[in-house]
Amino acid sequence: MTAQLIDGIALSKQLRTGIAQRAAVLQAQGTQPGLAVLLVGDNPASQVYVRNKVKACHENGLHSLLEQHPASLSEAALLSRIAALNNDPTIHGILVQLPLPAHMDAHRVIEAISPAKDVDGFHVASAGALMTGTPGFWPCTPYGCMKMLESIGCNLRGKHAVVIGRSNIVGKPMALMLLAQSATVSICHSATPDLAAITRQADVVVAAVGKVNLLTADMVKPGAVVIDVGMNRNAQGKLCGDVDFAGVSQVAGWITPVPGGVGPMTITMLLMNTLQACEQASGQPAAA
Ligand code: NAP
Repeated sequence: MTAQLIDGIALSKQLRTGIAQRAAVLQAQGTQPGLAVLLVGDNPASQVYVRNKVKACHENGLHSLLEQHPASLSEAALLSRIAALNNDPTIHGILVQLPLPAHMDAHRVIEAISPAKDVDGFHVASAGALMTGTPGFWPCTPYGCMKMLESIGCNLRGKHAVVIGRSNIVGKPMALMLLAQSATVSICHSATPDLAAITRQADVVVAAVGKVNLLTADMVKPGAVVIDVGMNRNAQGKLCGDVDFAGVSQVAGWITPVPGGVGPMTITMLLMNTLQACEQASGQPAAA
């Protein structure tokens, strides 16, 4: 079997067209959706990520405010910037790029963001909303994975979905989103003794670990949907995911590539959350 590709670039393009249209409506009514991106320090990967987020805003009718601070910035100074942005009516979403320098408490910083502007979905209020099935912002990466599953018409009800990884930003929220769609969900992690025995039962596998070739063809049920969240460099320095794409695509029914899969979807869902925050602030009903 040769898997069909779930193209994150094409799906993003389609979703971003809708986002740009909704942003134009808001702007015509006098409010342009705005995202503030706070970067502390000079981590090269973080610089690339924030640049891509700001660029995506500009290309789709959102305005963005990029604040770059030196690594020596005090936590108190960062918290006071967040407080100011919480009260800034031109800013609807606030994103603090992680990781933060070691002298800062990332949890305290994220909790300082108003839940109404928590477009990364990392605040405990957002996590609690996801857990309880009440309205709130979903973390962008698993939200993007759900949109990819929706785009191929994957009905998750009664399916066995296996999530590999249990981080707060990907694995755990991913599992909750799949559960909300009535999948039977298994969460695997570094202490899972026989990963292959579990993934072989999966109708849907989401790999979110950060290890090259973690998921190989012998670990996948024929016809399964495989979503690769991983972002790694292989021995040749090439960007790749957690899935052995060449092998697994011979077995799976659907597969996401890396690059061009989950990565672009993450930024798209950030735009979507920011737009939604703006619509909510403007008193408009939510439209996912
Ligand atoms: P993380 O916080 O490091 O979590 C990794 C998870 O993988 C942990 O839960 C860990 O288990 C588990 N794990 C480690 N080795 C394992 C093994 N051999 N078998 C099974 N599970 C194992 O990473 P993250 O932030 O969730 O990110 C995961 C990957 O996704 C990374 O490559 C990251 O770069 C990528 N990512 C991509 C995007 C995107 O937009 N494409 C966004 C976010 C993250 P323990 O909990 O037991 O340690």
